[in-house]
Amino acid sequence: MTKIKELRCVIGGCRYSLDEVSYTCPVHGEVGTLDILYDYAALREAVDRDEISASKRNNFWRYKALLPVDADSRVPPLAVGWTPLYDARRLADHFGLSRVWVKDDGANPTGSLKDRASALVLARALEAGFSTVSAASTGNAAAALAGLGAALPEIEVLIFVPASAPSAKIAQLLVYGAIVLLVEGTYDDAFELCMQICQEQGWYLRNTGVNPFTTEGKKTVALEIAEQLDWQVPDVVAVSVGDGSIISGIHKGFCDLLHLGWIDRVPRLIGVQAEGSAVLAGAFAAGSSPEEIQRQSVTTIADSIAAELPRDRAKALRAVRETDGAYVTVSDDHIVTAIPKMAQLSGVFAEPAAAATFAGLERALRTGILDPGESVCLVSTGNGLKDIESARKSVSGELRVAADIDAVKTALQTVKVL
Ligand SMILES: *Cc1c(COP(=O)(O)O)cnc(C)c1O
Ligand SMILES: [Zn+2]
Repeated sequence: MTKIKELRCVIGGCRYSLDEVSYTCPVHGEVGTLDILYDYAALREAVDRDEISASKRNNFWRYKALLPVDADSRVPPLAVGWTPLYDARRLADHFGLSRVWVKDDGANPTGSLKDRASALVLARALEAGFSTVSAASTGNAAAALAGLGAALPEIEVLIFVPASAPSAKIAQLLVYGAIVLLVEGTYDDAFELCMQICQEQGWYLRNTGVNPFTTEGKKTVALEIAEQLDWQVPDVVAVSVGDGSIISGIHKGFCDLLHLGWIDRVPRLIGVQAEGSAVLAGAFAAGSSPEEIQRQSVTTIADSIAAELPRDRAKALRAVRETDGAYVTVSDDHIVTAIPKMAQLSGVFAEPAAAATFAGLERALRTGILDPGESVCLVSTGNGLKDIESARKSVSGELRVAADIDAVKTALQTVKVL
């Protein structure tokens, strides 16, 4: 692919061609994740942002020219991306911020932002002729791979998830017909097992961070935010962080646009972690290098951001450090109360990991990390229906009535509607 200049290792700057390596840097190992870099001068000549804006493709393939696949490559048919960006006035008032947008990625086909990475990885698998694609996941990446893969008859999807994953996510996997291995262990255990079997069998590995196409898929959320705001990017983009792949993808997307000259700056990136799963926040506060980061045992209600050893740690630290951003942490209680608050102020029902971002913005404002004069885009990464049990913990107050009009009226009096 002539538009790709090189794959560059985040740790040592080692350079490779797309044919030379598939996953991480052979010299620096697993922490040495790769950036897919383009010939930006050639892209600037070949691609025009107004042409993209005129595109009738209402999905993320409108950016195919900026992605590491050929123009005529086959892609999975489901409509991934081009999700709504809401101008959330009530949220802005709540936070006391000038402008707040919500990017609702729960509106993707399988209900999370992970569809972006899985769609691109599957396109790559088709191009490279793989017939088995496998992923370890806390649930959403797997559901994305299973769902998008279901429409591709030549691809078999093999999934490793912790047995503790929320039941809606496991149901999704089974419904889509993937082969599902429920690992009696953590997400990190599932990750290692998946990697090992893929290496042994020559199957294509979708694992977050390790596969550089995952970052490229996730970057499309930044391309959309920029385009939907007419290339005037917000001051801050906030997103929750587990492995750190989404925040890295957002960073990469804005950097690509900056290189193309389509935007004039990269927003500050604020990463939100759960207090019980805060490896990156800890490393950021301590000024650690990615190589120094050690595995920690973690626990949080926000299963999608539970990561003992964040796989995209190098890119995720860089994303925040290079943009003058920050990491903040929030408690599980705060996350649970954020679910209905965010839903009632914006109409967007988010799963715990996505509502964590709302909680993180409250915290960032309280601690002065965020200035009330700044405009903010909150990326809502996953649909609330993914984890009903957690959502149910956050709300009460339903009125149970007998099937009788008088009972209805009495009940409505208690809430002063009558
Ligand atoms: C995966 C995921 C995240 C975190 O993304 P990372 O790349 O692991 O940092 C946040 N929210 C939801 C809903 C997710 O599925
Ligand atoms: Zn390297």
